[in-house]
Amino acid sequence: MAPTVVILGRPNVGKSTLFNRLAQRRIAIVDDRPGVTRDRKEAPAVIGGRDVVLVDTAGLEEAPPDTVAGRMRASSEAALRAADLVLFVVDARAGLTPADRAFAAWLRRADVPVLVVANKAEGRGGAAAAMEAFELGLGEPIAVSAEHNEGLGALHEAVAEALGEAPPAEEEPEDTDDPERPLRLAIVGRPNAGKSTLLNALLGEKRMITGPEPGLTRDAVAVQWRDSTGGRVRLVDTAGMRKKARIEDRLEQMSVAATLGALKEAEVVVLVVDALLGMDEQDLRIARLAEREGRAVVIAFNKWDAVEDRAAARRRLDDVLASSLAQLKGIAVVPLAALTGRGVDKLMPAVRAAHALWNRRIGTGELNRWFEGVIARHPPPLVDGRRIKLRYATMPKARPPTIAVFGTRAEDLPEDYRRYLVNAFREAFDMPGVPIRLQCRGTR
Ligand code: GDP
Ligand code: GDP
Repeated sequence: MAPTVVILGRPNVGKSTLFNRLAQRRIAIVDDRPGVTRDRKEAPAVIGGRDVVLVDTAGLEEAPPDTVAGRMRASSEAALRAADLVLFVVDARAGLTPADRAFAAWLRRADVPVLVVANKAEGRGGAAAAMEAFELGLGEPIAVSAEHNEGLGALHEAVAEALGEAPPAEEEPEDTDDPERPLRLAIVGRPNAGKSTLLNALLGEKRMITGPEPGLTRDAVAVQWRDSTGGRVRLVDTAGMRKKARIEDRLEQMSVAATLGALKEAEVVVLVVDALLGMDEQDLRIARLAEREGRAVVIAFNKWDAVEDRAAARRRLDDVLASSLAQLKGIAVVPLAALTGRGVDKLMPAVRAAHALWNRRIGTGELNRWFEGVIARHPPPLVDGRRIKLRYATMPKARPPTIAVFGTRAEDLPEDYRRYLVNAFREAFDMPGVPIRLQCRGTR
């Protein structure tokens, strides 16, 4: 479950503005009908690299001023119960009011982490004005201007720190550090590429994957085994692996829905490509889907036994990969013959290697030593005549490796510069074949 971040504060301090800023979209206030209380607004957001549910307690605005503290409390209690973190917003311009202090006293007793956000602290003097909020006894205030988009980088970081390390993704409740946790593998590819044959070869026995009768259900059959490296593997999708009874099925195009389902569940995707036919548009589409889903990909270049001119086949494949799949630069290719078993022993080590890269975390120190060099070598370009000043980078998550770069107008970094950063990162930290995510966060 994504943590819940609740924005609290008295009316008019800028909660809604901050909410919209963090949710990075305008949420129209649609319900102006009398009698419709919009107690809360909720939106998914990414703050400090973490997926969160952001909640704005906007209904408080309707509370009459004389009963503000009391009303806030009643109306916010429910929101607070669900909160993993509270952003307590005060107005740095107006200074602290009795309502702020009452609220703070209440928050200090509540058993939830609180960050004080001193809003409207734009421009000169803003940070100094924000310091008054120290008096609330809830830690160092973070000076921001929600309206002018200032100080948000520091807020992102403080939130990331307050929420701590991200738990493993939702679809994966297992303990990632458990060596016995099976690697989740999908074997995908066009019909007839040799997926079933390859699975049988991997299982080391001529065991037919006899799923449910075709046409009855596409439910997957759980297949788990210990591979040649000694680790556990679980095949996440067998729907596409059923032995197809009818000829028409063989001619059927791969089902995008089924493939996508498998990709979403997998950690590593083995894309089986028929080396006799070469990598075609359909194969590329699957690889791009896997990349889009953030999965590591290994290509099983199958039917190698039947290929006559191997050098030419390999060259054609490399050309296609270089020209059409740059997002997965350096992707591992394992030529093999599922039918005879040759080369099959090379597959799982390649899968494990891709998995390790996909899981890899790089410390902030090491990352920033690299980052400084890379922006010094090739500084960000001017955008609209204005300089983008990059300050530092963090790696908020792995699986897939994700870098967040912070700096003035970092969100305006042009596409080719983002590509430069990703490629430089891939090269410096030797991460071929895994998708790399880049998040750009503006600070001032
Ligand atoms: P809420 O009642 O706490 O949700 O506050 P709103 O988000 O509706 O903002 C109240 C008023 O403060 C609006 O007029 C905003 O335009 C203004 N405001 C919000 N953020 C800032 C800011 O960072 N600086 C300044 N100067 N005004 C702001
Ligand atoms: P799927 O539809 O992707 O599951 O493909 P299958 O595993 O059913 O294989 C399709 C056809 O390709 C079958 O006739 C296999 O015997 C053949 N095939 C699979 N692997 C190889 C291989 O390594 N070499 C050769 N020559 N044929 C293979």
